[in-house]
Amino acid sequence: MIKLKRILVPTDFSDTARHALTYGLSFSSEYQAELILLHVVETIPVGYASDLFPVPMAEVFQEMTGYAKEELSKLAAQAREKGLAVREMVTQGKPSAEIVRVAREENVDMIVLGTHGKGMLDKALFGSTTDRVVRKAPCPVLTVGATEHEFVS
Ligand code: ATP
Ligand code: MN
Repeated sequence: MIKLKRILVPTDFSDTARHALTYGLSFSSEYQAELILLHVVETIPVGYASDLFPVPMAEVFQEMTGYAKEELSKLAAQAREKGLAVREMVTQGKPSAEIVRVAREENVDMIVLGTHGKGMLDKALFGSTTDRVVRKAPCPVLTVGATEHEFVS
């Protein structure tokens, strides 16, 4: 018997991630599972950042974090309208590592994410974030593509 208590939906606010969220919402509603929405503000290794960008990186990240919080709260509001229990998280770091860390720390039962995101190259089966998450996740991962058979309504 399947018991889902917590579902993690990481989003980069791309269309594919938005589509994956419809599955997350539906599973959450079906299983009365808590939904965790996560956005990771991607940080650049310090060495590069200071060489390439003379601007204060901390401020840039702060601005990006503020934007992400706003966008995430819009998505969360939609979920709450459906009566779901939702938690929003914005963290900084390497997206795949953060997604895996949160999945482990929050004892998540399933991760639902897009096969691809905002990246330009979609030759590969998965984007690099999803590729790493599938390999390192501590729980099952549902990868949702833009053009495939659908079972959500
Ligand atoms: P790449 O980043 O390798 O150029 P891509 O952007 O097309 O490729 P991914 O980054 O793997 O593909 O994105 C796949 C999914 O991973 C997205 O649909 C989203 O669910 C999740 N994701 C990607 N980046 C983030 C992020 N910064 N924070 C949270 N979730 C993310
Ligand atoms: Mn990406």
